[in-house]
Amino acid sequence: SRAQVYDNGKSTNVTFKDVAGLQGAKEEIEEIVEFLKNPKKYTELGAKIPKGALLVGPPGTGKTLLAKAVAGEAKVPFFSLSGSDFVEMFVGVGASRVRDLFKQAKEKSPSIIFIDEIDAIGRARGKNGGFSSNDERENTLNQLLTEMDGFGTNSGVIILAATNRADILDKALMRAGRFDRQIYVDMPDINERKEIFQVHLKPLKLSKDIDIDFLAKQTPGFSGADIANICNEAALIAARKDKKEVEKQDFLDAVDRIIGGLEKKNKIIT
Ligand code: ATP
Repeated sequence: SRAQVYDNGKSTNVTFKDVAGLQGAKEEIEEIVEFLKNPKKYTELGAKIPKGALLVGPPGTGKTLLAKAVAGEAKVPFFSLSGSDFVEMFVGVGASRVRDLFKQAKEKSPSIIFIDEIDAIGRARGKNGGFSSNDERENTLNQLLTEMDGFGTNSGVIILAATNRADILDKALMRAGRFDRQIYVDMPDINERKEIFQVHLKPLKLSKDIDIDFLAKQTPGFSGADIANICNEAALIAARKDKKEVEKQDFLDAVDRIIGGLEKKNKIIT
């Protein structure tokens, strides 16, 4: 999910139907859809609408997808940026990007701002793990905190951020009135993998020998992104063999390829 520096508040047609499994996360985030659709219901009772929520979970589990679905369900524009885009920015650029993004999101409110890989900017300050201190990252983080504090609870902008390392985030981000809610987006269990297969098998022309239970059983430890990948890879393998339908064997070959790829990736990391 390489988010662009920002998406200019385009609308998205992703909805909760596109997000398989994640029942608990969907139920929690549903309330944010309600805030965006009907803020008065809350403010008239004197309730303060949360400004942000942190989506926490391993890579490829659907955090970006879920954030887009919130925008799609509420029919509000989606602005996004990725923390990793800020890592090598010149001094002053990160902070001004953040300022810019919030300005645009406010102009188009109600709206969603999504910050992917927030840990890249939101690591605890002053702890750079042996590297030289990164002033630009701190400037960007400070600007983010300033922006979050700067707008009122009725601004209609809700900020969602994703991380797989909530433990290294600066505690200031989690303070009341900032990302004070955390929503867990976990790896899928066997039943959730079935649901994810259902979503990603839909566009494919399948042979009768395809059995979703079997596929879900064959893929323990696979994320939603891995499963999406398998489905497409299987279709490519079938096409390469000039088949008219995607067969069970194509899925088995795709699983092997993806496992091979994952092993390579792990070798690079370790
Ligand atoms: P990262 O932490 O790497 O940014 P992420 O958690 O944001 O990952 P996504 O970018 O949302 O993961 O997932 C990548 C793709 O994998 C999605 O666009 C979708 O095709 C598929 N996918 C992941 N999770 C699910 C899911 N729960 N249901 C359906 N598809 C999924």
